Amino acid sequence: MINVLKFGGTSLSNSKNILLVSKIIIKKFKKKKIAVVLSAPANITNILEKSIELAIQKKNYKKEIQKIHEKFYKIVEEISLTNENFLLKKVKSKINQEMKFLQKMLKSIYFLNKCPKKIFAIIVSKGEILSTKIMENILISKNYNTFIINPIKNLISNGDALDSYVNIHDSKKNIKKLNIVKKSIILMPGFIGGNYKKELVLLGRNGSDYSAAVLSACLKAKSCEIWTDVDGILTCDPKIVPNAKIISNISYNQIINLSNLGAKVLHPKTISPLKKLNIPCYVKNTFNESKRGTKIVKNSKQKKNKNYSSITYIKNICSFSIKSKNTKKINKVYKKILNKLKNQKIYFFSSIKTINQKYINLYIEKKYYKKIKYILKKKIFKQENYKKKIKTKKKLSIISLIHSKNSQKNKLSNHIQKFLNRYKIKIINVISNQSKNIISFIINSKNTNKTIKLLHKILLNKVKTIEIFLLGIGGIGKTLLKQISQEKRNLKKRNLALKIFLIANSKKILFNKKSIKIESWKKEFLNNGKTYPQQEELIKKISKIIKKNNYINPVIIDCTSSKAISKQYFNYIKNRYHVITSNKKFNTGNLKNYKKIRKLACKMNKKFLYETNVGGGLPIIQTIKNFVKTGDKISYFKGILSGSLSFIFGKLEEGMLFSEAIQQAHQKGFTEPDPREDLSGLDVARKLLIIAREIGHSLELQDIQIQKILPKKINKKNNVNEFFQEIKKFDEYFLNQIDSAKKNEKKIKFIGTINQNGICKIKLSKINKNDPLYNVKDGENALSFYSKYYQPIPLVIKGYGAGKEVTASGVFSDLLNTI
Ligand code: ADP
Ligand code: ASP
Ligand code: MG
Repeated sequence: MINVLKFGGTSLSNSKNILLVSKIIIKKFKKKKIAVVLSAPANITNILEKSIELAIQKKNYKKEIQKIHEKFYKIVEEISLTNENFLLKKVKSKINQEMKFLQKMLKSIYFLNKCPKKIFAIIVSKGEILSTKIMENILISKNYNTFIINPIKNLISNGDALDSYVNIHDSKKNIKKLNIVKKSIILMPGFIGGNYKKELVLLGRNGSDYSAAVLSACLKAKSCEIWTDVDGILTCDPKIVPNAKIISNISYNQIINLSNLGAKVLHPKTISPLKKLNIPCYVKNTFNESKRGTKIVKNSKQKKNKNYSSITYIKNICSFSIKSKNTKKINKVYKKILNKLKNQKIYFFSSIKTINQKYINLYIEKKYYKKIKYILKKKIFKQENYKKKIKTKKKLSIISLIHSKNSQKNKLSNHIQKFLNRYKIKIINVISNQSKNIISFIINSKNTNKTIKLLHKILLNKVKTIEIFLLGIGGIGKTLLKQISQEKRNLKKRNLALKIFLIANSKKILFNKKSIKIESWKKEFLNNGKTYPQQEELIKKISKIIKKNNYINPVIIDCTSSKAISKQYFNYIKNRYHVITSNKKFNTGNLKNYKKIRKLACKMNKKFLYETNVGGGLPIIQTIKNFVKTGDKISYFKGILSGSLSFIFGKLEEGMLFSEAIQQAHQKGFTEPDPREDLSGLDVARKLLIIAREIGHSLELQDIQIQKILPKKINKKNNVNEFFQEIKKFDEYFLNQIDSAKKNEKKIKFIGTINQNGICKIKLSKINKNDPLYNVKDGENALSFYSKYYQPIPLVIKGYGAGKEVTASGVFSDLLNTI
């Protein structure tokens, strides 16, 4: 059995590549019988077409012919330098002969001002004729026999002289009759066929792939290999998306979709003859021979193949918009048009709307423009109606997203529209006449590359995006930005893209539509941030900005301690933003709102996350949620919830005086600027309330019973330094407390408890040795949960529960939980 190999223009673009191709041919021939189809060297066909256009317009075509002449001369001269057996003179004389012929033909076109299709086809096919001649002589020079199949005589074709179809049945008979010399390498120029009068016709631009498929069918080949300049069929054109992935296996039907929708790597006509005879097709890289390439068969192995998606495009699309007043009429016209285009074998896209405005949109490659205009004008509408009813547009592109499996088309289509909208790319229309696994839409041509790049990134590379709107750049906010910046590379590796669009503090807003560079946010904030002296105004401005939500996965992060900001959460979620907060104000506000926001977030399918409300970065909220989810009931809670008080009482155990311990905690930044806030127990009460609510108790802040730490009142009017003096009077009291506890092998800790009935208490307690809270010190938090399953030994979470690093990392983790 024979194998057919086709080398495209990209593989034959210069002498070096042509020699490389000859080596591949020889290597293959040594193993099996082969027939080789050759294209013209890259760009030659374009120059030939251009020379005809110039001649018709009475412009200088000679320059173009000169270019071709020089190009072929260069190729053969370079080949002869590497190979002294190469018959340079003979090949040069063939080149000269063809060039003379071209000059003569183009001269007549110049005088006639037109070019009949027959002549056009002869001129444009010269590239293939010459590259075959060159390859033939390379192989002869290396002592191989060759046999040239003349496609004009053997590939019987019909249809348009520039875009013909080959009749396989008749062609096969011809080829069978050929007396192919045994042990010879068969060569055939691609792109060319012959009509029933044995006149040269073309098989369509890019048609050498089709020539190879036709020859494979006629020879009943074992396989058809398309050798080109890419590793196979990829998820997108690598000229636009260099990191497009290879599709290793694909079915005939799937590849037909891909090439019809623009994947230029294989001509759309190629598959049909192969599919009929079940001949496998491989797409391989001439410049990367060892790569397996893409295998195209009837049923591609889905397992190996996985599920692929790919993006294709066709530039140079024009549209015909046909309006009508009534639905019946428009449906009738639509049917008529479809029939006509099908008969003409013109691949087109369409969309029809019959509700409200009634119109049909046809989208067709520009090369068919005149043909379609003619059909619509002469065969469907009358001349005057055509002008009235039809509007045309040019410079459009069609972008298609193809899945190997059926997708949720509407959902995906909406997602794409929203996504592109954000980048100011307008989808002009979505195509309706397509199967479930394809989404095609029309955009302006100028946006083609940008759109493809964006879609490939988001849909195929599966980059998950989080758009950040950060409120509050104190310790936590700043540290969060630092942590994100440090993790940038790892995030990228995990296909996560975190982009910051807004940063605000209590006075200034920095908003950048294109996103803020994380490395230089401080500078940008300083230079470009807008100042709002009134907080109200600032909040209003933020609301205004977020209202225009064109984002994919936007998140508001509240790292402030502002009540006014927390009141905006409803608004943020309604505008389809996730809300992440380290600010406790909302969750300790009234219970009605606490419940309402959770319902709203659920309805809007948005996340409301606040892991850092209790215990900094410790996984507390998540743990309680898991208790609730799995039906385990928390019967008792006991915890040390204040890092500063944990530090202070730890120091007392070590023998330090109370006033000294407070001062040290203050110096180390463990307490609030005014340590009296820590001592009031209010912050612990807030945390305890959040835990209690999370467990399921309906409580308000005033329900938390706080037993004061200090035995007597202190002067609230004192400044912090005066306060440090004042508390010295409690040193002895605490020394005694610690001593008496020690005698009973106990320690004093400031703890919060929640009992089975939801009674919440905060007080100084004597903790005995067996209690998991006994050894907690150095600013640690410790939380013990007793439940149906966790008893008598509770589940304990212990660690630093405050500090900007751990809290910021808790916010960061919430952030990553939004996807
Ligand atoms: P040849 O000259 O070998 O016929 P073509 O230029 O016709 O080569 O086709 C190969 C080109 O197809 C590649 O260089 C690539 O830019 C383009 N292409 C477009 N879509 C795809 C795709 N999905 N996979 C691979 N290549 C593609
Ligand atoms: N040389 C022709 C073209 O450029 C055919 C081909 O390369 O497939 O259209
Ligand atoms: Mg090609």
